[in-house]
Formats: sequence, structure tokens, C-alpha cells
Amino acid sequence: MRCQRCRGDASVEVRRHHTAFCNEHFIEFFDRQVERAIEGERMFTRDDRVLVAVSGGKDSLALWDVLRRLGYTATGLYINLGIGDYSQESYRKTVAYADAQGAELLVADIPQDYGMSVEEFARATRRVSCSACGLSKRYLFNRVAVDRGFTVVATGHNLDDEAAVLFGNLLHWQTEYLARQAPVLPSTHPRLARKVKPLYRIAEREAAAYAIIRGIDYIVDECPNSVGAKSLLYKEALNLLEQAAPGTKQSLYWGFLERGRPLVAAQDTAVLRDCIHCGQPTTAEVCAFCRMTERAAERMRVRRAAASVPPQDAPATDPLQPAVPAPPAGE
Ligand code: AMP
Ligand code: ZN
Ligand code: ZN
Repeated sequence: MRCQRCRGDASVEVRRHHTAFCNEHFIEFFDRQVERAIEGERMFTRDDRVLVAVSGGKDSLALWDVLRRLGYTATGLYINLGIGDYSQESYRKTVAYADAQGAELLVADIPQDYGMSVEEFARATRRVSCSACGLSKRYLFNRVAVDRGFTVVATGHNLDDEAAVLFGNLLHWQTEYLARQAPVLPSTHPRLARKVKPLYRIAEREAAAYAIIRGIDYIVDECPNSVGAKSLLYKEALNLLEQAAPGTKQSLYWGFLERGRPLVAAQDTAVLRDCIHCGQPTTAEVCAFCRMTERAAERMRVRRAAASVPPQDAPATDPLQPAVPAPPAGE
């Protein structure tokens, strides 16, 4: 196979575009797709300070890398979720990249700041792990961004992620979720940062190819809690379709953005107000994160009292400055 640009040996095939590239021209293709996403969807400009949520995986490290190479001001945010070896390893990969590149990295630590891991939140509130984890990440992305003066939060969601979420939402006709699925979610509240997904035009294997070509060391393992997750099943199903008909994922997701989303966007009628406990935007009186952490803390207190175990230090309220003892968030 030959590179479409220079006719040299190709190293990466992009079947959905019926093309292939050498390393150098693949990076050029990747950059162009990311720039098209950022500019076409008006995600941000080179004057914005962008907070990039970095998990240590290929997508978010590739995103951080491409944004910095393209001249954007991008600070990383890593969240320690407290998921055993997986969190430790992903933290190490993130710090290694930041150190090697001299890139600014912020770290929020859930066990340290809130007294327990997302798995313990999940157990104490009878949620599935991924739901407690997703809620915690969304909350902290926004809270850290707003507290630190970032107007935009970028995540590494790629085309495969978005197509799989769309597929799941369609299978269950979750119209309110469909209405909120987009590469850009604008700020609709003074304490709500804009959310953007600059890799929505990039397939998962392309993000992996980018990371490998750029020499980025990333965590390959999936989160242990994602075993058996529906999202992985949907990805497998779409991969099967993609193999038989390259371009399926792209036509599903980009087609939705162009033709499906305008039909459902009006369903997003949520009115936001301030959580009475933490001040973050919410549709309820108390936000879902405060409700979860308060219930989890209460259950922990009851369990400790029953076992007469002395309580740990109370959690702090600022997710990035855990040193000051304070009551659990929102109390
Ligand atoms: P996931 O929810 O694991 O599919 O990850 C989707 C995106 O969320 C990633 O591409 C990252 O941008 C972000 N993300 C996931 N986990 C973390 C984490 N522990 N810290 C910071 N960002 C994360
Ligand atoms: Zn080439
Ligand atoms: Zn709250």
C-alpha cells in the first residue's frame, strides 16, 4: 500500500476514507481532522485556555499532544478515581507525559478529597460503578474548570465512542440523551464550562496509531469495571459492521449530527440552577454528585458507628486543595 500523499510505503490504512498514509502524512491527516473539528464546530480558539481531561489512555493523551502541537493552550486534568492498580498506572502514564513535555497538569484526587473511591460511592449508593464514576468525572471536570478559570473542557471521546453511545441511545430511544449528544455542549449557566470533543472525527485505531507514531506511552488496559459494559458490546457490534462496510460508524454518527440531532435538540429543555450545597449547576435543588457523596458518607458513618471505628479525616471541599479539613462537600 502506498501513501496517498507521497507514494512512499504506507503505514496506516484509513479504510473509511479509502486511503492510506506514511507516518508523516498520517500525522498531517490527523492534525487536519482535529483542526476541522475545532474550527468547524467553533470549539475554541488559540486565545482560550483549554482544560484537557487526561486519563492516561491513548485518546486523551493524543488529544493533549495534538492540541499543544497545534499551538493551543492546553492544561491537563487527571482525576484519581481510586480504582486500584488501574488508577495508579494511568496516573503514572499521565505524569510521565506531562514531565517529558513540560506540560502543566492538575490532579484531583477523589479518595483523598471525599474519603472514598468511586467504587465505594457506587456500593454505598447502590449505583453501578460506571455510573458513580461517570457522574464524579463530569462533576469534577466542570468544577475544576470553573474554579480555575477555564472556559472549555475537552475530553478524548473519539468517533467509536460517540457512535457506540449513539447506538445505545437509539436502541433504547433515549431521546433526552440524544438531544444532549454533540461534539460541543455550550455553557448554559455562569458556572458551567463548555464541553468539547475534538476527536469526534478520529476513529479509535487512528488515535492509537497517532500515539504510537508520536512515541506516547499510554495505558492499554481497559478499566476493570468496564468488563461486560454495554458500551463495549455496542463497540463490538459496530466494529463488525465497520469491517464489512467501512464508513458505517462515521455515517451513523456524522449523519446523526447533520440530520438526526436537529429533530431531537428541542427536547433538551433542562433549566439549570445552583446546587444549594456546592453551587454547581444542577436541574435539582441538590446536585446528583452532592446527593451521592452525602449518602455515601452517611452510610459510612453508620457502618463505622456500628463497628466503632474512629472516622478518617473529614473530606475537603476544594477538589484541588485537599489539605484544609472541612465537612463533606455540600454539608
Ligand atoms: P471514558 O469515560 O473512560 O471513556 O473516558 C472518556 C474521556 O474522559 C477520556 O478520553 C478523558 O478525556 C476523560 N477521562 C476519563 N477518565 C479520566 C480521568 N481519570 N481523569 C481525567 N479525565 C478522564
Ligand atoms: Zn507520505
Ligand atoms: Zn452539589
